[in-house]
Amino acid sequence: KRQNVLSVQAFPYGENRKLVLSADITELERTDAMRRDFVANVSHELKTPLTVLSGFLETMRELPLDQTDRERYLELMDQQASRMRNIVDDLLVLAKLEGNVKPPSDQAIDMRAVISHIREDAATLSGGSHVISFAADDGLTVTGAETEVLSALGNLVTNAIRYTPDGGSIDVAWKQAGKEAVFSVSDTGFGIPAADIPRLTERFYRVDRSRSRDTGGTGLGLAIVKHVLQRHDAILDVKSEEGKGSTFSVRFPSQRTTRRQPAHV
Ligand code: ADP
Repeated sequence: KRQNVLSVQAFPYGENRKLVLSADITELERTDAMRRDFVANVSHELKTPLTVLSGFLETMRELPLDQTDRERYLELMDQQASRMRNIVDDLLVLAKLEGNVKPPSDQAIDMRAVISHIREDAATLSGGSHVISFAADDGLTVTGAETEVLSALGNLVTNAIRYTPDGGSIDVAWKQAGKEAVFSVSDTGFGIPAADIPRLTERFYRVDRSRSRDTGGTGLGLAIVKHVLQRHDAILDVKSEEGKGSTFSVRFPSQRTTRRQPAHV
């Protein structure tokens, strides 16, 4: 196997050729190990709902169930199927983002539309159980791929709602800060232990597995967010205190930020 790698990598690197080759092998082995981990994780994540689903199927086949029980079982099976569907959908989004080497467009995004979309989705998801406020700087916009930015920023708001108990508040802001544009979401939710913060954007990483599962999470949301933000040269900051709440902020750099001049000037 090593021999193969060597022959594939046999480019003329000059004087330091040997050194470069061994560095390449280490890197290849590392990505290979990551790929193996990833495949193992995906299999595990899909296997759990699949096992539950098969369990219900078997029970349905073996037990005489009345109409009410039958419907309850079908509903539970449907939930497991949705869970699998969400994982596969998010995996496809990730694969597409990773395969896309083209830089995102340099067209201005309609941030008013993005914010209003996020606002509607937030209201639907919360169903009136949270106090949600939006403060958006109207003339402020960034350049890039609108659907990607919408999905990344929307994901942060979705998480804020998911990980904040009913009655809590969520504050969303879209503001200029110096030459940058900042989107931030603060919640009064469960918060995140400091040790978990650096790992949040890893695929399938969850602070509380059962809480994520109960809210329909796939553990891939922040991995998708990270990819989209990287493509837009934006930076994600997370501040959190356990039991108090979290703030996720996204800073878009000045070269992607544009500010519409007030019309009356
Ligand atoms: P999931 O689908 O599980 O929500 P994400 O990748 O979106 O996956 O988030 C990873 C984990 O980060 C979540 O499982 C949750 O534990 C934690 N998390 C994300 N956002 C918040 C938040 N606003 N408050 C508390 N925990 C959060």
